[in-house]
Amino acid sequence: LWSKGDGGRLGLLVAAGAGVIAASWFSAAGRPDAGDQMVFVSLSLLGALVGLAAVFGWVKQGRQAVGARTRLLLGSAPAAGMDVPAAGDLVAGPGATWFHRADCLLVDGRKVTVSPLGTHQAAGRRACGACKP
Ligand SMILES: [Zn+2]
Repeated sequence: LWSKGDGGRLGLLVAAGAGVIAASWFSAAGRPDAGDQMVFVSLSLLGALVGLAAVFGWVKQGRQAVGARTRLLLGSAPAAGMDVPAAGDLVAGPGATWFHRADCLLVDGRKVTVSPLGTHQAAGRRACGACKP
């Protein structure tokens, strides 16, 4: 998902934010007046924002990479519900127990013959549970 440069940039920004926080903390230490410490509190918040922004940007980049890869892999897949064969002809192999739609994957490549529903029922065949003819 991420390159080494992405990880390096994240580490650099988080370290910079942590450095700003640490420097602010050390600078504010020993100042008895709360008003004198406010500028360092603000700097600490800025350092925290830099670190958080780096992490959120890193996660956002990863999510975008996952989304792009998902669209690439699933972009040409048929929409849900398109998996059910819709061919109108009913087929069955010789001596078969089940009859199927002509485009059922269970009969793909097999020697089958097309017959009307009554012929399949008269032969004692049952409807395939996968293609639901
Ligand atoms: Zn079937």
